Amino acid sequence: MNVTKQIYYTLFTPSLPKDTQYRFGFIFHTEKIYALQTFNQLIRFCRAFEELTGKRALCVVMTPENPLIRKNMEVDNVTEDEFFQRLMKLNQYADIGYHGHFWKSNQKSFLDTQNQITPQTSFFEFKSQVAEQFEREVVWLRERGFSITSYAGGWWFVNPLILDLLQKMKIQYDFTFSLQIWVKNNWAQAAMQRAQIHFGEVFKSTKETVTHVQTLMGCPNSNYPQDFVRILNKYTSANFNTLGMITTHDYNIETERDLARAIELIRYLRHFSQVSFFSLADLALEPVEKQILIY
Ligand SMILES: [Zn+2]
Repeated sequence: MNVTKQIYYTLFTPSLPKDTQYRFGFIFHTEKIYALQTFNQLIRFCRAFEELTGKRALCVVMTPENPLIRKNMEVDNVTEDEFFQRLMKLNQYADIGYHGHFWKSNQKSFLDTQNQITPQTSFFEFKSQVAEQFEREVVWLRERGFSITSYAGGWWFVNPLILDLLQKMKIQYDFTFSLQIWVKNNWAQAAMQRAQIHFGEVFKSTKETVTHVQTLMGCPNSNYPQDFVRILNKYTSANFNTLGMITTHDYNIETERDLARAIELIRYLRHFSQVSFFSLADLALEPVEKQILIY
């Protein structure tokens, strides 16, 4: 127990600005469907989230068409049908989207950072490879009945090539942009700054069929949900209508302690009159005024 922090929060109760509305969605970068313990915890969180907020979490998933997932399914003895059954179960409590992670070579280790395609990788060097896997994964999900309308990039991977793919594959919502300092995508952040996109503003790009919803916060693995509000307050801006995502990974809630902390955060946030939650379906009603330019 961090006694200093406990005393601090006894003396200072963090509050949110009274004139700002915060609307949060909750998104998982879902990478361990094949691991039963992690999967069961994910289901428990999504059920709790729905009970507490009346809204659905969004799980953007990697599929058996991703070579790393295929390899880990083999290690854990999970068949493609079992993987599909788990996704069906997850879809009872959460919306399903696509989470893309891409590699330079299937012959090298997927864990080797040099082999991962990230925002630092040249846009067009692996263009056809990324496009081919992206399309194959989205088709895999759609062929099994999941209506995939959303994407979030692994490693915050979004660039003009990905925007082309989102449009081509008729994906309406992207969740890869963020102004948070721990999100490392210089191209995306520069594009937002040029268009003066504020913290918590939704926007489009020149690919007008796609709406971009920002990641506003992570889900701090902390005994103090007050930490969330304290950090959030650092990002207040001229935008009084703040809408965006709380983003985490499925494996960040795989222990009992971290699952309890994440659920406690939702309970805590509900008590603020300025805070509400939304599901993917609610975004259809959201007006979008701003636009970034793509070079
Ligand atoms: Zn990821």
